[in-house]
Order: sequence, then structure tokens, then C-alpha cells
Amino acid sequence: MIKRSETRPINVGGVQIGGQNKVIIQSMTNTKTKDVKATVDQILRLEKVGCEIIRVAILDMEDAKAISQIKKEIHIPIVSDIHFNPDFALEAIRQGTDKVRLNPGNIENPDKIKEIVELCKEKHVPIRIGINAGSLNKKYKHSEEAMIASAKDHLRILEELDFHDIALSFKSSDPLECINVYHLAAKEFPYPLHLGVTEAGGLLNSAIKSSVALGQLLMEGIGDTIRISISDDPVEEVKVAKKLLRTVGLKKDVANLISCPTCGRIQYDMLPIVKEMEEYLETVNKDINVAVMGCPVNGPEEAKRADIGVAGGKDSALLIKKGQIVRSIPQSDIVKVLKEEIEKF
Ligand code: SF4
Repeated sequence: MIKRSETRPINVGGVQIGGQNKVIIQSMTNTKTKDVKATVDQILRLEKVGCEIIRVAILDMEDAKAISQIKKEIHIPIVSDIHFNPDFALEAIRQGTDKVRLNPGNIENPDKIKEIVELCKEKHVPIRIGINAGSLNKKYKHSEEAMIASAKDHLRILEELDFHDIALSFKSSDPLECINVYHLAAKEFPYPLHLGVTEAGGLLNSAIKSSVALGQLLMEGIGDTIRISISDDPVEEVKVAKKLLRTVGLKKDVANLISCPTCGRIQYDMLPIVKEMEEYLETVNKDINVAVMGCPVNGPEEAKRADIGVAGGKDSALLIKKGQIVRSIPQSDIVKVLKEEIEKF
């Protein structure tokens, strides 16, 4: 059982982050935000696979003005990512953004920061300060301690204005650096932590790097929200995030596939079945273990530990439910029968 760190909770458009609330899955669109249709379409696809908060990039006033239109069409909170321009932040907040990702130290005019903070207070909009190892202030030499010091610089500005609805992130492309800096951050700050390995590469690379770093942190109870950065369709980010949270025991409503690696004892063409079931299970929000095994030698024993499973034979396969062999089914019906059983589960 993971003992989660206690952080100061924030409310992002009705979704609670921090405290003992569940770990929230985030992703980021890669459309032009001002292209409302494309952005909404992508967010709806992400919602469907389990994305719980979405971030969009705000590069100009048109992007900021699109927030209210996007919000009308989607069902999850939206975060506006702004780098330097305070007016884009003000506009996004007026347009109803649920959270702003902005580093106050990057905004030169103190009056503008004050204005943003006042508006955030009025509209109950939290701010995420995001420290990236690759873009630290030039006064710092790259180190994990420098990332913490940089966060303190930004935080001081908000705290002096008596603003505390804050989340923090400390991203690095090096998973081990991520682990170290989040350890320091969890000791130092009371605010919720958004976890991520940045610039992590394509699906395979990112899944490995993110699982190593985020997996360890989550198992230590560190982390309130996560994003898996992948150079691909962001839908993949959410799929990996769900599987990671399930693997560490922090998410239950995700189906799990158990399948053997196959060997010389394989009795049938199992791999296409595994592929089809894997895709299907991504749409199943149930706490269920499904096994697909390749032969009647070791297969039945392994499949018995699953809720529903098949162990393939030469012409037919054994259907196993909760440890009991139920019946034999023809090879050609394996996928159909498994889907029916999963529906009923
Ligand atoms: S279940 Fe059978 S086919 Fe699959 S790896 Fe084990 S022995 Fe090989």
C-alpha cells in the first residue's frame, strides 16, 4: 500500500489535485490552440482514453481567446501554458481557463504579475510553476539544487502576494535527475507536484524512462499529477499513464493483459489475438485481468490466476474463469468469447 505524501490541495476546474486525492492524468495538445475544431477533436479523443486534465499552448492573443470556445465543447479542465506574455495569461483567465502554467519570474513588469494573481484569486485559478532543467535562469549552473532554488525564486513572488493555489513541476530529460529533484522538492515544498520526464522520445523510450522515474516516485508516495511526454499522438501519453498508475496500484479501473511471450510449444497463431485484445482492453475501464496463453502445457496454470483467460491448443482453446476451466472453444472464437466474457464481468 502506497503512503502518499500530504500536499496542499488545489482545485482545478472541479478536479482536486494534491492532498490524498487520486493521481490525475494530464496530457497536452499538439494542435494550434486557435484552431478550435482540431483542438477540441484532439481533446475529445484524449478524454475517451482517460485524460483528466488537458494543457494547451498559448502563443498569442488568438490562442488565449479560443479558450472559452474550447471549454464549451470539452468535459475536462483546461490549463493554459504561457511563457512570457502576461497579457496572454490575463486573457486566458478571463476566457475561463482552469489553471495557468506560468513562471512569474519570467514576467518583468511587477504590476502585471499582481494583476494576474488578483485575477487568479478572484476566479479561483491555480498556477503551476514549471521548472525545466534545460531552461534554468542563467544565474544558475545546472544542478538539481539549482532547479529547487529557481522554483523558490518564482514561488517567492506568488507567496509575497499571498497566493498559494500552486502546483510545481521539475522536469528533466534524465530520469535519474528527475527522481533526485522530485525527492528534494517533496521535502522542501508543501505544494502538489506534477511529475514528468520531459523530451523523453518516442513511445518505447518514453514509456521506459517515464516508468523508471515516475514509477519509483509514485511508489514512494510522491506525485499528484502525471504526464508522460511522448513524441507521438498524445493519446499514447494517456494510455501509458493509465498502465503505469495501474502497475503501481494507484489506479484500478484499467484492464490488464497477461500474455505469455510464446515459445516453441506455441500451438496456434496467438500474436494477432494478443494485439487485438490489447487494443480492445484499452477501452475497458474495469479492474480485470485477462490472460492469453499459448499452449496447454503451462498456459492453463497461468491463465487460472486471471479473471478470464484462454490457453490455446491445436484446434481449440480452454476458456478459464476465476481459476476454473469452463469449456473448450474453437480457435476462431477466442476473441469473440473473450470480449463477451469481459462485457459480462
Ligand atoms: S504458455 Fe506455453 S507457449 Fe506460452 S511461453 Fe509458456 S510454454 Fe510457451
